[in-house]
Amino acid sequence: MRYFILFGPPGAGKGTQAKLMVEKFEFRHVSTGDLLRREIKNETELGKLAQSYIVDGQLVPDEVVVKMIKHEIVSNPDAKGFLFDGFPRTTEQAESLDALLGELDHQVEKVISIIISDETIKERIKHRATIENRKDDADEKIIENRIKTYHDKTEPLITFYKEQGKYVEIAGEGLIEEIFEEISKHI
Ligand code: ADP
Repeated sequence: MRYFILFGPPGAGKGTQAKLMVEKFEFRHVSTGDLLRREIKNETELGKLAQSYIVDGQLVPDEVVVKMIKHEIVSNPDAKGFLFDGFPRTTEQAESLDALLGELDHQVEKVISIIISDETIKERIKHRATIENRKDDADEKIIENRIKTYHDKTEPLITFYKEQGKYVEIAGEGLIEEIFEEISKHI
């Protein structure tokens, strides 16, 4: 089983690239953002809890997302591979993922990191707010918090995966097809 992580700040284009990767490589796409939004839409307890963090630009507690990921992995034993998008976002999540995969005698193959500037993040999210109806995209303050959360909590994972020799970086401000071509070279 192959496990890839698509990494990068909000608005980096992870969702867009994930779609292309799933078409080409037939991995199972696991986006914690999408999973959480589904819970919110269905008005579950988990959704209500998640919403309170998301509308503040904060991360949902680690144990909540780790549980969702575990469920995805164990309920799809026949997948060709998994593509995690928006997970892990903290060192604790990354360590939990290593432990989880370790139990199955599996491991993360590569972390593909899409890099864009803070300015581009803001522009893209504002643009996305006009297309998708996401509360966390519509408010400047929430966007600022998400960028700060990314730098504080998620960026340290770059060192974590560099030390494991699994980290590759892709420039995320070019054309979608060109970025996809660069990503494909690493799969
Ligand atoms: P983006 O990458 O554009 O910020 P996502 O759809 O990946 O959007 O995530 C939306 C929100 O869901 C995040 O701001 C965060 O609050 C929550 N979330 C998503 N994935 C995680 C995660 N792995 N850990 C904690 N919170 C998460």
